[in-house]
Amino acid sequence: MPRREIQDLSRGALEAWCAAAGEPRYRATQILAWVHRKGADDFARMSNLSRSLRARLDADFTLDRLAPVFVADAADGTRKLLFHLPGEGGARPAAIESVLIPQFEREAGARDRLTLCISSQAGCGMGCGFCATARMGLVRNLSPAEIVGQVRAGRALAAPRPVTNVVFMGMGEPLANYEAVRTALDILTAEWGYAISPRRITVSTVGLVPAIPRLIADTRVNLAVSLSATTDAQRARLMPVDRRYPLRALLDACRALPLPRRKRITFEYVMLGGENDGEADARRLVRLLHGLRAKVNLIPFNPFPGAGFVASPRERIARFQAILRDHGVHATIRESRGQDIQAACGQLAAARAAA
Ligand code: SAH
Repeated sequence: MPRREIQDLSRGALEAWCAAAGEPRYRATQILAWVHRKGADDFARMSNLSRSLRARLDADFTLDRLAPVFVADAADGTRKLLFHLPGEGGARPAAIESVLIPQFEREAGARDRLTLCISSQAGCGMGCGFCATARMGLVRNLSPAEIVGQVRAGRALAAPRPVTNVVFMGMGEPLANYEAVRTALDILTAEWGYAISPRRITVSTVGLVPAIPRLIADTRVNLAVSLSATTDAQRARLMPVDRRYPLRALLDACRALPLPRRKRITFEYVMLGGENDGEADARRLVRLLHGLRAKVNLIPFNPFPGAGFVASPRERIARFQAILRDHGVHATIRESRGQDIQAACGQLAAARAAA
């Protein structure tokens, strides 16, 4: 049997392994704390485990850490990490990217944020017309180890500053890789793991409807849904997923979610000049979101070579935001970061960067 990577295991899976090895269940949590919280590099160093258990772990599992092969620094403090993923165990080799984004709060007393934007897949199969990652197609799903590994590497690079927030807004569609993302979220939020509050983690989806209630039932993370259009004709043109899960089904699924008190769903809306940024679009968006605990995040389009779209002028974005606000819809404009290193939303295309 080839050895498995131990960072791919959920706690339940490691408990089953412990039971088969004649060890008590709680041993799994001790092992996981070494692997994730204490960051041991070697089973031999797990000093509160018996020598024979350490030998069995070493026989059955690998413990490999992901390290960036390249770090790019943007003028605004944004940093992009490039990883090469080896093609072991039948998996294809791949390249992925994460982005560290410092956000300095202007309000007195507010805490500065350091957000890490991570990838859930190498490439992406969703085909959104305005996204550079989509042009790569789907290379492969990431494993839980490859997802949490980005957080470990991002934290190490940021140290001594702590990473305060994690967003699944890098390459890939997280809900198309549900099981791995779910296991990674358990590891990221567990006390024996990375101990990140789920309130500081956001999963962004193109709108894979059946997986949305699952995510809300299984985790307590924040949900962001990429909308970017207000009619199905328009959305299907920009986001092919709309043909499978049209707006009505998507928004009904969001309305039916058992959201905790005070929690809101974020709807992301990429502002494409002359495409979806008019006053009529803003008014339709208000109507679509009626009855939803929603906030809208307007994302200025980040161009890339051959994109075929242009960014909305600032005044047009401001006008769009004003219409939403006048109708009681909470709306913010996302500040574009890291453009000079192709690290902004929708610009991640590691295959090209690596080539
Ligand atoms: N697949 C997930 C998460 C990755 S993309 C999703 O679609 O939500 C994160 C956000 O960046 C999405 O809202 C997406 O619509 C947006 N985006 C993609 N390409 C962009 C671009 N070129 N400019 C600005 N935002 C973009």
